[in-house]
Amino acid sequence: MSEYVKNLMDDVKAKNPSQPEFHQAVEEVIESLDVVMERHPEYRAAKVLERIIEPERVILFRVPWIDDEGEVQVNRGFRIEMNSAIGPYKGGLRFHPSVNLGILKFLAFEQVFKNSLTTLPMGGGKGGSDFDPKGKSDVEVMRFTQSFMSELFRHIGPNTDVPAGDIGVGGREIGFMFGQYKKLKNEFAGILTGKGLNWGGSLIRPEATGYGTVYFAAEMLSTRNDSLEGKVCLVSGSGNVAQYTIEKVLELGGKVLTVSDSSGYIYDEEGIDTEKLAFVMELKNVKRGRIKEYADKYTNAVFTPIDATADHNPLWNHKADCAFPSATQNEINGKDAQNLLNNGVFVVSEGANMPTVIEGANLFVDNKILYGPGKAANAGGVAVSGLEMAQNSMRYSWTREEVDTRLKMIMKDIHTTCVSTADKFGAQGNYVLGANIGGFIKVADSMLDQGVV
Ligand code: NDP
Repeated sequence: MSEYVKNLMDDVKAKNPSQPEFHQAVEEVIESLDVVMERHPEYRAAKVLERIIEPERVILFRVPWIDDEGEVQVNRGFRIEMNSAIGPYKGGLRFHPSVNLGILKFLAFEQVFKNSLTTLPMGGGKGGSDFDPKGKSDVEVMRFTQSFMSELFRHIGPNTDVPAGDIGVGGREIGFMFGQYKKLKNEFAGILTGKGLNWGGSLIRPEATGYGTVYFAAEMLSTRNDSLEGKVCLVSGSGNVAQYTIEKVLELGGKVLTVSDSSGYIYDEEGIDTEKLAFVMELKNVKRGRIKEYADKYTNAVFTPIDATADHNPLWNHKADCAFPSATQNEINGKDAQNLLNNGVFVVSEGANMPTVIEGANLFVDNKILYGPGKAANAGGVAVSGLEMAQNSMRYSWTREEVDTRLKMIMKDIHTTCVSTADKFGAQGNYVLGANIGGFIKVADSMLDQGVV
């Protein structure tokens, strides 16, 4: 690490205390950019890095609402408008009790590079709340989301900031927020993506992140003349990303052994087939139940509860070829990464954002496995959000096949950018470096063009 990057990192830590996830995301990116800063003194002169790590705007607001018992509840709402050099702020909303400023800043920071990689004109943002949708009635979720949008509406717009879903925010939440925006503004506008098909949504948006992550894995495998056919896969999570990752892996001939939620994981030696996947989808999307119930229904499967005191996650300690972490950040620690390697895993395609700690990511890179970091591998979700925005602007809808073809092409382009950028900077096969530099250059050049703003 150069003195310049080291000083910058010290500054980030001093100015943003108690935001470890943000420090981690910045460190991972700026380490890769060291070589770029050396080759391009113009970026350094214009303090592009110093500006890119500072959000353009942070909005923090009170979200009061009334629960089913008539009691007043108060949550915090956030929107981080990180960078608008190449387009309106774009990035999801997360509703989870763990949400805080540092987590959303890490996500918004990652989003800037991810969105740039998609080739579409989208800046980076992220937002959400520490509201926990788990166990809440539909009416409570509606009251909360309406209150959330009653503040957020004044900060967003089709050409300003277009949020989407993330953990805890799916079709139901997007619907309630869209309705409230429309009521407040008297305007039917594409201010959110992930909308319902009847009111401006895009086909393939729900599937896009999971499908894209698998397309990215297939692209990585193709560099070794290999495919997903017959590959044994570990998947974590059982939400939106995990579900469509499993669907696409099955379609491409792979076998999936695991799914999880925040209470524990399922190991199904026989494999999760389409019928079992349908059960998971119904369980999670309709009944909003716990993944443990899978083992009650399919008695050969084994449920292992989370052990918060363990130094590793046993989900990552099974013989397999591929891993698709699709739950949350830092779900693969250093020991998990080593366990994956020991078990023969040679493809890791990240559906979740920053699911691997830096030590684990370094292990993957050093061992030269096919490691697709989240900002490249899971960019399919925001890419199809970009396509949803395009369709809204045209007041027109593409077919499922058209959207899927574009998604595939975008994932292929992202893969090519990662590979060619890594080659150009002398780090063949290093998708982390390729994604970080590939995403950065377009944003940095646009910032240079637009002056000191
Ligand atoms: P969902 O809310 O649909 O699902 C999240 C899943 O992860 C659930 O199974 C949840 O379990 C589990 N999970 C969440 N937090 C934790 C935790 N702290 N420990 C263990 N398990 C946890 O979210 P998504 O599928 O949309 O998002 C998953 C990941 O993918 C996130 O990192 C997100 O940022 C990323 N991502 C999502 C995109 C999208 O389009 N949705 C786009 C790009 C990235 P439980 O049900 O118990 O909470």
